[in-house]
Amino acid sequence: MSIGNTFTTHASTDNHVIGYKYSLLQRSLASVYLEIKKSDTGEVVYTASEWNPLSPPYFSWNGKYKSSDKCAPDGLYDTKLYLMVTEVTGPYAETVEPQSIRITGCDRVEITAPPDNQDPLDATFATNFSFLSTSSILARAAYNFHGSATDIAWEVTAANGELVSGRIRDADPADMRGQLLLFFPAPPEHPDYTPGTENPSDIRYRRSTALSYRITARLGNKSDANTITQDQKDTIIQEYVNHGITEPTRTALREIQGFGDFTRDDVINVPGSPRLAYSLILGNPAQLAQAIQDEYNRLLSDDVQVVLPGSTVPNTVIVRPAPVNINTIGTPVLDTPPCYPSPDIYSCDDTYGTIIENGQEIDVIVDGGDGIAQTQVYRGTHFRLQLNSSWRNPERNEAVGSTTPTSRHQYGDAVDLKILGVPGVSKAEQNCILKTAAQRIVGISNVLAEEGSIPHPCNDNRVDHIHAERN
Ligand SMILES: [Zn+2]
Repeated sequence: MSIGNTFTTHASTDNHVIGYKYSLLQRSLASVYLEIKKSDTGEVVYTASEWNPLSPPYFSWNGKYKSSDKCAPDGLYDTKLYLMVTEVTGPYAETVEPQSIRITGCDRVEITAPPDNQDPLDATFATNFSFLSTSSILARAAYNFHGSATDIAWEVTAANGELVSGRIRDADPADMRGQLLLFFPAPPEHPDYTPGTENPSDIRYRRSTALSYRITARLGNKSDANTITQDQKDTIIQEYVNHGITEPTRTALREIQGFGDFTRDDVINVPGSPRLAYSLILGNPAQLAQAIQDEYNRLLSDDVQVVLPGSTVPNTVIVRPAPVNINTIGTPVLDTPPCYPSPDIYSCDDTYGTIIENGQEIDVIVDGGDGIAQTQVYRGTHFRLQLNSSWRNPERNEAVGSTTPTSRHQYGDAVDLKILGVPGVSKAEQNCILKTAAQRIVGISNVLAEEGSIPHPCNDNRVDHIHAERN
């Protein structure tokens, strides 16, 4: 049964609209349904229905491919227009003039890899696009053009101003034409390692700028460009590449964290000076600092009481240092003198008091109100240390004047700790106690008493910090 309807194909490759115009004799009785399938696979790529075919008498297939850079793929498509007539003798369907049409799409070129990653989130970046100067980068274009893939021309330029434009190496193919382009980044070479270049007002001396490339593919008058930029992890790892030292993994770079008394802020700053140039870090320097500080306090308060409180004051040693060999040069440390006859609650080994017994004044060893003999005043007192330096990115390690290009500071397993004062204990003694404490945590040979980057004996008054590293 024919109900005398007609429709005409309207396919445009200029505005990428494929449409059907139809005219119905019995519009009010019919509904219209359009289906477009790929001829080769049978995949339905478009359907539309119109239950009030009075207006508009037109279907268009442009919703899916609206962008001027995105066209319906080339190919052969089967189209069917159905009329559903419902008011004759029940549902009745008529297929009107099924047709095949060829769609040629439009001229275009689109870079499908690597993806734009200008604003990556660290969590997803690695699966997005991560690269170093040692990475090969394979760019790929999709195209739809009445020409050849060999007509695609590539261009790679620096996107952040830090690179000389187009600094790439080993482009393949060398003429940079075709559907695929392989290349390696070629950033400027890092200058020789020059310790002591820090200028705190100039961030360039403390961290690097991300490598960033703009990759463009051109085909005829069409072009597409993707920009790839290193995220913070890549930027940090790139510093290790630039300095020719072992690169950390991406997963080893973590959020900065505190531990114990050493807060996240202690790790980031020393008073008045930011210490970290990035928001990520290697290792857990706060944990190492806390372990050393705990041992330092233990050494300060581990004297052994050899004469008990209540005893008559003898002119002899009452409290002896614990048998820890404090690593010092020449000067005994923590060998506290007896208080009698020159009591000093911080520098002698106990306080004494005078009591009357049988009408006579006698001096006896007394303890403090807390029952602790006085030289153990340190026990329970928590002496803090200052974390002067922890993780240093390689640029910063160079900038601060480290003479060790392979410094463990760059791997987050070295700390510089500074004494903040213990009453009655000299600076030399404190530094030697701290050095001993650090050696008990990380090993004898992994600790230095330093003035800047110059090592000295620990009892040298020029010492301004103790460096300790795990390796
Ligand atoms: Zn150090």
